[in-house]
Amino acid sequence: MNTVLLVEDERALADTLLLSLEKLKYECTWAKNLCEARKQLSQHQFDFWILDRNLPDGDGVSLLAENPARTAHVLILSAKAEVSERVKGLKAGADDYLSKPFSFAELNARLEALSRRSAPADNADSNSLWSLQNDTLEVVAPTGKIRLTPLEFKFLTYLIEREGTIVSKDRLLKDVWGFTFLPKTRTVDYVITQLRKRLELEPENPAHLLTIRGAGLKFSR
Ligand code: CA
Repeated sequence: MNTVLLVEDERALADTLLLSLEKLKYECTWAKNLCEARKQLSQHQFDFWILDRNLPDGDGVSLLAENPARTAHVLILSAKAEVSERVKGLKAGADDYLSKPFSFAELNARLEALSRRSAPADNADSNSLWSLQNDTLEVVAPTGKIRLTPLEFKFLTYLIEREGTIVSKDRLLKDVWGFTFLPKTRTVDYVITQLRKRLELEPENPAHLLTIRGAGLKFSR
């Protein structure tokens, strides 16, 4: 069943939408402002977000910038109907924009069209996950296809090829950087930090790129 997060402060409209969407077998959660929406998003994944823009604590569009790695399809449902406002919503990353007043049949048709669209890049096919493309310096990370610098690419390739093995920093300096003597340097730490940021891995729990204290680094899927 598809899940929907409805962010809408107008109670009567929210009730009508929830009732209609549930009849169509969407499982809905209602948030009446940005604060509640953030709380829901920190706890659950949704297939769709339906966002109002005039909310008591801000513009629904701000949720897009706050969640760059989202996988949900986003439809803005707003009384802000001017072209410039619609462009603003779409540029912020929404997949569709419907202005109020709207017909429920149209909303439903648009949700169906969105779910027919190919899934966002974030839902990379699990077979291709962590595949590396030499010609473009891209890697398929859980957050999507990401382009790396030549050094980051070489570094990550080295670790992925040795998946599950702990590789010491000295060995990385020799094999990836080509040092023949071992300089006192934090280069490896710097690159690993950059790489985690670029791959949008959690800094506290970089599941795939692990630092093993006193031993080195390890890549795991
Ligand atoms: Ca509103």
